[in-house]
Amino acid sequence: MSEKEIDYSKYEPVIGLEVHAQMLTKSKAYCKDPYDYGAEPNTMVSPVSLGHPGTLPKHNKQVVNNAIKMGLACSCQIAGFQYYARKNYFYADLPKGYQITQDKTPICTGGFVEIKRKDGTEKKIGLTRIHMEEDAGKSMHDQDVYDSLIDLNRAGVPLIEIVTEPEIASGEEAYLYLTEMRKLVRYLEICDGNMEEGSLRCDANISVRLKGTTAFGTKVEVKNMNSMRNVQRAIDFEIKRQVDMIENGEKIYQETRAFDALKGITIPMRSKEGAADYRYFPEPDLPPLNITTEYINGVKSQMPALPKELFERFTKTYLLNDYDAGVLTESRDVAEYFEGILKHTSNIKSAANWVMVAIKGYLNEQAIDIKDFVLQPTKIAELISLIDEGKISNSVASQKVFPAMINEHHKSPLQIAESLNLLQESDSDELQNWIDQAIAKYPEKVTEYKAGKQSLLGLFMGEVMKFSKGKADPKLSSKLLKETLDKQ
Ligand code: ADP
Ligand code: MG
Repeated sequence: MSEKEIDYSKYEPVIGLEVHAQMLTKSKAYCKDPYDYGAEPNTMVSPVSLGHPGTLPKHNKQVVNNAIKMGLACSCQIAGFQYYARKNYFYADLPKGYQITQDKTPICTGGFVEIKRKDGTEKKIGLTRIHMEEDAGKSMHDQDVYDSLIDLNRAGVPLIEIVTEPEIASGEEAYLYLTEMRKLVRYLEICDGNMEEGSLRCDANISVRLKGTTAFGTKVEVKNMNSMRNVQRAIDFEIKRQVDMIENGEKIYQETRAFDALKGITIPMRSKEGAADYRYFPEPDLPPLNITTEYINGVKSQMPALPKELFERFTKTYLLNDYDAGVLTESRDVAEYFEGILKHTSNIKSAANWVMVAIKGYLNEQAIDIKDFVLQPTKIAELISLIDEGKISNSVASQKVFPAMINEHHKSPLQIAESLNLLQESDSDELQNWIDQAIAKYPEKVTEYKAGKQSLLGLFMGEVMKFSKGKADPKLSSKLLKETLDKQ
């Protein structure tokens, strides 16, 4: 059958994601080694993370707290009694020969993450579980001609793994889910959410079935996607590949495939191992945990406002539209900056515009974070006041005063506007002078105006602005201009 004849709409994709988030803790999961992405290889290790005989792990309270925070943010149930488990496998970057993880008693179960589709509809993606575990080291096969090299810095770095139910229906939904996931971990400050550096990783489990059937198809797990877009691309490719195979009468095997971002395809990596291959058993070197309700409440009290709560506040209290509220709550730092401006101005709409256009534009252009932005929110509030008081126009503010403020951030916007001679003229003698020049320039247009062509007012205003080099206060000039024309 040729490709063109395949009716892809007969099929329904079924997708479940496994996300690993690297915890932003000072030390590793079970010992006190620090961890820094990009540090010299094998400098952030100790006998414990190297798995030397006789060493003992100790659990990191911050990891437990982070996992609880994530669980609370996703409305999960938090387990009381729980224990760690050993997942045994042999690999060169796993010095102990096993990974300490959780198996039967994950710290969080149930819960959901809500996504908003492009058409505005919302969908809750159910979570199966969140559990705590440790990362492995890194094998590098492309650094040396003859040997594979191993960097064990990452061995023992704490992770939480967040597993969804098989409820995601497209590559796009997976993309939206990951966007929410990244936003959440960043808000909670438990992970930096950087997919390129691997601090947030996603494995996608994909199967397809005929619409109307309930049994799941055989799933394929895809790894190696280092951006959210690539997760979407890998899923879209895989759905098509699987439908093509089924339509060609071929059988899908449960396997693990890798995404090749350059070619945009998935390639076989290994056949899928089953849980039995790992010989899970309770970790004997770490005591079980007993998490009480009081403990959970303690963690809850330290949690910041979540994106959803901020979105509510931005739409209901500040009356921003959904789009603006969405952009402003994308990151907690941006939301805090915006609210910082609101402490000093009541012009909410203008504050939102400054953050979304001028400030975000500048940050993007410079590739910096709002945390590193030199201007304090008060400065933006002062700038807004200058505009609202008619001292400068909006365009002068964004084209001239704002860039100058960045260069001279110790000065106030007023000082800058004064020093650049940009303050709007509201002295009526000065305004009258420009108006007279404008009127003198087009005597025949004055006659037309007098004959009833009101629209010519714009032409005269344009001239006044030109003569004043943009400094004429528009409201006052327009009033004076009308009066002067009427007197002609
Ligand atoms: P494994 O033991 O192979 O890792 P799990 O049952 O733990 O499988 O599921 C891993 C992920 O795969 C979960 O996100 C789950 O929702 C998803 N999943 C399970 N079965 C399917 C399926 N048939 N198609 C797509 N995704 C699936
Ligand atoms: Mg799994």
